[in-house]
Amino acid sequence: MSLSAQPDTLTRTTCPYCGTGCGVIVSTRQGRIVDVQGDPRHPANAGRLCTKGSTLHLTAADHVTRQARLLTPMARAQRGGVPQPIGWNAALEQAADRFAQVIREHGPQAVGFYGSGQLLTEDYYVLNKLVKGLIGTNNLDTNSRLCMSSAVAGYKATLGADAPPACYDDVQHAQTLFIVGANTAWAHPILLRRIEDARKANPALKLIVADPRRTETAEMADLFLPIQPGTDVALFHGMLNVLLEEGLVDKAFIDAHTDGFDALCEAAQACSPAAAAALCGIPLDDLRQAARWFGGHTPTLSLYCQGLNQSARGTDKNAALINLHLATGQIGKPGAGPFSLTGQPNAMGGREVGGMANLLSAHRDLANASHREEVAALWGVDAVPEQPGLTAVAMFEAAARGEIKALWIACTNPAQSMPDQATVRRALERVDFVVVQEAFATTATCAHADLLLPATTWGEKDGTVTNSERRISRVRPAVAPAGEARHDWFIFTDFGRRLEARLPERTARYRPGTRTLFPYTTPESVWMEHRASTRGRDLDITGLSYHLLETRGPQQWPMPDGATQGTARLYADGAFPTANGRARFAPVAYAPVAEPCDADYPFSLNTGRLRDQWHGMSRTGTLGRLFGHVSEPAVELHPDDMRRLGLAEGDLVQVRSRRGALVLPAQASDAMAPSQAYIAMHWGPEYLGGQTETGDPVAGVNSLTQPAGCPTSRQPELKHAAVHLAPVTLP
Ligand code: SF4
Repeated sequence: MSLSAQPDTLTRTTCPYCGTGCGVIVSTRQGRIVDVQGDPRHPANAGRLCTKGSTLHLTAADHVTRQARLLTPMARAQRGGVPQPIGWNAALEQAADRFAQVIREHGPQAVGFYGSGQLLTEDYYVLNKLVKGLIGTNNLDTNSRLCMSSAVAGYKATLGADAPPACYDDVQHAQTLFIVGANTAWAHPILLRRIEDARKANPALKLIVADPRRTETAEMADLFLPIQPGTDVALFHGMLNVLLEEGLVDKAFIDAHTDGFDALCEAAQACSPAAAAALCGIPLDDLRQAARWFGGHTPTLSLYCQGLNQSARGTDKNAALINLHLATGQIGKPGAGPFSLTGQPNAMGGREVGGMANLLSAHRDLANASHREEVAALWGVDAVPEQPGLTAVAMFEAAARGEIKALWIACTNPAQSMPDQATVRRALERVDFVVVQEAFATTATCAHADLLLPATTWGEKDGTVTNSERRISRVRPAVAPAGEARHDWFIFTDFGRRLEARLPERTARYRPGTRTLFPYTTPESVWMEHRASTRGRDLDITGLSYHLLETRGPQQWPMPDGATQGTARLYADGAFPTANGRARFAPVAYAPVAEPCDADYPFSLNTGRLRDQWHGMSRTGTLGRLFGHVSEPAVELHPDDMRRLGLAEGDLVQVRSRRGALVLPAQASDAMAPSQAYIAMHWGPEYLGGQTETGDPVAGVNSLTQPAGCPTSRQPELKHAAVHLAPVTLP
C-alpha cells in the first residue's frame, strides 16, 4: 500500500534495527500498521530505507508476528512446565516478593539484570536507577557489552569521553574513507548509500577497507586490505610508522593538543611497516598506500564497528586507530575523525544514561567517587554502590556458579546471543528465579523463564533513541500495545515501587524529601530527569526537549541550555574533555587473538550479520521475503579449503570448537581467505534444533564462540574462535 491509499494516521518514528537510526513514517488504518515509508525530513536517511526498514509494516502487523508475540504475563509453576497466564498484578507481586527475598537473604549482589541496546533511553534510565539506586548493586549489564563497550573504552582512553566526534555529513566532506572491521553494505545499508553518493560526487575520494573477509563493502574499495584476524593494531602501528617516515604526521596538532606521542612511537617500533604487513598478511606496498592516503589525501574519516570491538584487544584496537587520527590532526573538522558505528538502535542511549555495569548517568564513571556522589544526589539516595557490577559474560559465569539467585532479562535473548552457550545454559538452569521481559514469546531465553512479562515493541513504543552520530530521535507509537503488553519503562517503574515497599532498609537510605525513586507517569517525565542529569556534562542536552524534537526534529548532543540546535561535530577547537584539555595517545602493543589456531583447531571462525536479518530473527524471521537474500545458515569457506576437505557445495560439515559443535551445510565463498570460516549470527536453537555431543541444545554459532574478552572493555572476542572442520557422512 502507498501513502496515497488514505491511511487514518501517519506517525513519524525511528527504525528499530541498526544504529544508522533512520526516520520512518508509519501509516495506520483502523488501528493496524499498513505501510512504512522513509521519512524525507529525517537527517539520517532523507527518505531512504533498506530492506529491513522498508518491510517493518509486514513484520509489525501480519498475523504471523502477532502469533509470535507475548501478549499476557505468564508464570511457570516449575521449570520445563507450560507457562500459564497470571495477570500483571500477580506477576509483579511475585517478582517483587522473590527479588526482595533474595536481596534480604543473600544481599544485593545476588541479583542480576541483563538488558539490551534495543531498549529506549527512558527504559534504560529507569532500569539503571532501579538497580543501582534502589537495590544497591551494579549488576546491570546489557547486550551492548557484546557490541560497543570497546568503542566506549577506546574513546575514553584517548579523547577523554565516550563521544563519537564525527557525523554522517562528514562522509561527503572526506577525501579518504577508511572502513575497518565493518561491512557497512549489510550492517548499515543507508550509510553505505551516502558513501556511494559521495564517491559519485567526488571521483577523487579514496575508499580503503580493511577486513579479513572480502565483503560487499570491500568489493567497492579502491584499496582492500585483507588482514589476518586480530591484527588491526599491527596494521595501525605499521601505518603510523609510514606516516612518520614520510613526514605525514601533523606536528603542530600533536604539540598543541595531545600528550604521549613519544611513548606511542616507542610502542609502535615493534611494528615496522614490513613487520606489520607480514603480521597482517598483506603486501607492504598496500600498507604504505593506505598510510599515504590516510595522512596525505585528507580529510580522512574512519568508520568502524564490530571487527574492532568484538575482540580480546578491542580497546587497544579502537585506541590505535584513534592514535592515527590524532597523529595526523584528522579530527574535529569536516570530513575527518574516528567514527564508531553502533550496531543496535539505542546502544548509544544506553551509554548516555550509564546503563552498564561500570557506568553511571550522563557519562559518569562508577569508579569515580565524585561521580557516584553526584548521581546519588540526583536520585535522592545516600550512595551509589562502589563495587563494580558484573559485566555480561561475568554475570552468566557467576550465575552458572550459583552466585546469582534472581536474574531479570529484558529485551534480549542471551540463550542465543551470548558466547559459550554451554555456560549460559548452565547459568539459566541454576538461577532460582528468572524473569524474562520480552515482546516475543519465541526466543530461546523465554523457555528458561519462571515469569514472562509482555513488553511493547516497535510501532507501540514511546520515547527516544540516539543513533551512531549522537542524534536523538523520537520513537512514537503508531498503534496500541498488543494484548496486555506494557512499556518497558513502566514495567520497571511498577516493579520498583513494589520493591520499595518490601525493602524498608533500602528506602530508609533515601535523602529527606525522596518518597519514591519512581515518580514517573510518562516517558517524557523520565526523559526530563535524564536531561537534568546531563547538565554540565559532555553530552549536555539541557537545551533540548520533547517539544523541540517535535518542532525542530532530531538533534545531536550536546545541546546545552540556550543552544538553538545540536552539535554536528566535536573537538573543532582542539580542546578535549580530559583533565588538561589534551587528547592522550595510547601506547598500546600488538597482541594476537586470545585463542590462536593450532593443529587441532586450525580454522579461524568469524561471525556476523546478514543484510536482511536482525539479531535472533524474532521479527525478521517472520517474513518470508527476508529469506530471499540468504535462506538458510551455512559455513562459508574458501574454495581451496572446500576442495582440501573433500566438500562439495551444500555438503554437511561439523564445525567444532573447544566449547561445542555445530553441523551446517558448507558453502564456497570467494569472500573468504584460506583457513577462515564464517557463520551468520542469526539462526538460533528454534531454527537449528538438535543437541550437541554434551547434550546441550544447538544454540547457533554461539555454541562455538569463546567468552575471552578485552581486559578493559570486557567485550568478548566474537570475531574469532579456533575451530576444527570435518565433513559429516550421513548413515
Ligand atoms: Fe533501519 Fe538501519 Fe536499514 Fe536504516 S539502515 S532502515 S536504521 S536497518
